[in-house]
Amino acid sequence: MSSSSAPSQSHSVITLAQALRQARQAGLERIDAQLLLLHLLGQSSRAWLLAHDDQALTPEQAQRYAALCAQRLDAVPVAYLTGCKEFFGLRLQVDNRVLDPRPDTETLVEWALALLPAAAPCRVADLGTGSGAIALALQSQRPQAAVTAVDVSPDALAVARANAERLQLPVRFRPSSWLEDVPEVFDLIVSNPPYIREDDPHMPALRHEPRQALTSGADGLADIRAIAAQAPAHLQPGGWLLLEHGWDQAEAVQAILREAGFQDVASRRDLAGQWRCTGGQWRDAAASNPATPTCSRTVK
Ligand code: GLN
Repeated sequence: MSSSSAPSQSHSVITLAQALRQARQAGLERIDAQLLLLHLLGQSSRAWLLAHDDQALTPEQAQRYAALCAQRLDAVPVAYLTGCKEFFGLRLQVDNRVLDPRPDTETLVEWALALLPAAAPCRVADLGTGSGAIALALQSQRPQAAVTAVDVSPDALAVARANAERLQLPVRFRPSSWLEDVPEVFDLIVSNPPYIREDDPHMPALRHEPRQALTSGADGLADIRAIAAQAPAHLQPGGWLLLEHGWDQAEAVQAILREAGFQDVASRRDLAGQWRCTGGQWRDAAASNPATPTCSRTVK
């Protein structure tokens, strides 16, 4: 009679609480460990996890959870692993074709909403829309607005379009590098462009996200300069340009906007207290600096 038998399954059975503990010990943030486990189990509430943490994972689930945790430890954004991210109350589908939407960007959305009329028609452009996060958040809050989402990446536009269809939001899409191939004029232009310096030491940690959505030349400001140069020709007098930027770039972006002829230039802080957005108003062409002809620079 053979004495060998399969190792008892009970050795490999782990509870949800044990799986979470192992993930933490391996180095995952608590919230990431929870979100990945919820995703694996098809659940969405962290309260559910607490209530069921003595439940067992099947060996197959435990194996898949370990694989997800390993990817997270390799710096893959949680949103790419779960396939979705909540932004301004909208559930967006995201993957590695687009930047993982950050809560910091909600600051830009809030500023834009403060400028947009609650009911009157208005025209808004979101440049470098990526997943569509900003354009869709604005359209969801301002149903009467004509919102145009622009991106140079066909992959990003495909992700954004799919989000708009799923959320049933009537955003229009345009392939263009910033405003180069956009004929319209707007009341508000917003953008979260790439703004990280090419040699920034944080880039390796962001290696799974599209590089063209993150870096912008040696000082991180090449795309912001291009947008500031192009925007006046696409703004109604009285229209605003609002830009997200890095925590240490507010002063530089203010100078770029003033030089391009914008007025009432100001910055806003994000939830973490960093100066995150800068904007200015376009009064009329006469107010612009004659030394800076509009729409003449192409920095791409
Ligand atoms: N805020 C993001 C980061 O620093 C970058 C987003 C961007 O470049 N627009 O990780």
